Amino acid sequence: MVVIGAGFAGLSATRHLRDQPVTVTIVDHHNFHTFQPLLYQVATAGLDPADVAYPVRTIFGREPNVVFRHGRALSVDVDTRQVGLADGTALDYDRLVVATGATTGFFSVPGAPQHALPLYTLADARRLRNNVLGCLETADAHPEDFDGGAPTFVVVGGGASGVEMSGALLELLDVSVRRDRLRIDPERSKVVLLEAGDRLLPGFKHEAGRYAEETLRSRGVVVRLRTPVAEVTGEGVRLGDGTWLRAAAVIWAGGVTVDGTLAASLPTAHGRGGRVTLEPDLSLADHPEVFVVGDAGAVPWGPARPEACPQVAQVAIQSGRHAALQIARQLQGRPTTPFNYHDKGLMATIGRHAAVAQLRRGPILRGTLGWLAWLGLHLVYLVGFRNRVVVLVNWWWRYLDWPSGPRLIVADVDAEP
Ligand SMILES: Cc1cc2nc3c(=O)[nH]c(=O)nc-3n(C[C@H](O)[C@H](O)[C@H](O)COP(=O)(O)OP(=O)(O)OC[C@H]3O[C@@H](n4cnc5c(N)ncnc54)[C@H](O)[C@@H]3O)c2cc1C
Repeated sequence: MVVIGAGFAGLSATRHLRDQPVTVTIVDHHNFHTFQPLLYQVATAGLDPADVAYPVRTIFGREPNVVFRHGRALSVDVDTRQVGLADGTALDYDRLVVATGATTGFFSVPGAPQHALPLYTLADARRLRNNVLGCLETADAHPEDFDGGAPTFVVVGGGASGVEMSGALLELLDVSVRRDRLRIDPERSKVVLLEAGDRLLPGFKHEAGRYAEETLRSRGVVVRLRTPVAEVTGEGVRLGDGTWLRAAAVIWAGGVTVDGTLAASLPTAHGRGGRVTLEPDLSLADHPEVFVVGDAGAVPWGPARPEACPQVAQVAIQSGRHAALQIARQLQGRPTTPFNYHDKGLMATIGRHAAVAQLRRGPILRGTLGWLAWLGLHLVYLVGFRNRVVVLVNWWWRYLDWPSGPRLIVADVDAEP
């Protein structure tokens, strides 16, 4: 059988199949698993790329019935039961798990795909880090190049990624001036967070959104609600009301979509954002041998709540596990069972010592307590012992306000004239 994608969902499915009498080929066009919740820390020079990624071959190195195949899956033929790879080969399957995730959604905003910097992959995070650090160096050398003599960074989207990115960017600015002595006036350099809706952290309780807004504002982020972006250019953004906001960099945290990914090409119904419509057991209608899990699928909450779950790591992990268990049941000749999501809550960090943790029951944890809850949970789910140690040490270091972090512009400058 074949699993496409080594994100949270594909890893979870493969792990729960390792004791089954099957050989699993897991395919990914990256040879590593990416821990997306910490990408913003790579982008803001808090962590190294290798701290949030782990080779898939190493994860399954001790599993004799799991084979890794490095490559991009281009097509799925549900009639001949074959996955077509970009190198021209085809993989036969008797059972298939599609766990290809989503991709950045620019939602038809003109100029956004060309000029905004997305944050979805490790490569995006590295590019963003180079870009932001490069802007800061330029501001040190040529302040006259920037409006008001210092760079403005615009973050588009007030969901968890946008909130985390804004808080971390502000800390990067602070460290760059305080520790690295960049000659940038911190009063003039700005982080502006733009959100089209009337609150931050939609999906969380109102109280959590308010806390995020107040905390970001008190730390110096300019938060603008009800401010949709109409266009992105190389100079900045045009807002819904026609005004322009100049920006040294526009960071796109405006959401994700399944459109344009492999899952969107599956011959079945698709819901909002291209997510694949699923049977209650997470298989495809008319194809009980094909399962779609994680961000790619419109994973239903459960039999009593057919609406789609949010696109978060817990849904990916639980749906991947569920698909594996259903495959095991099918192999034993038993009927499949519907998926039931166990909501464990939502979390977002706002910066050092500040996070919101909205657990399923009980009060919202905030401040240092929320931050510690966020830290603990991320350590549990981060893949690789070394990564956990490195990230823990790094966070402890920062907690004590000892500025550290890989503030490296890793680009091929030797090739430049
Ligand atoms: C910046 C960011 C921050 C986030 N923060 C949080 C958070 O704090 N908490 C939380 O719960 N969730 C968070 N999420 C959401 C969470 O990361 C996703 O819900 C989760 O990763 C989905 O898992 P997945 O396995 O479905 O997809 P992914 O993790 O996206 O994995 C998909 C895999 O499929 C591979 N792939 C895709 N297409 C192909 C192809 N054609 N051929 C071969 N391989 C392919 C990709 O390389 C990738 O490895 C965040 C997401 C992002 C982008």
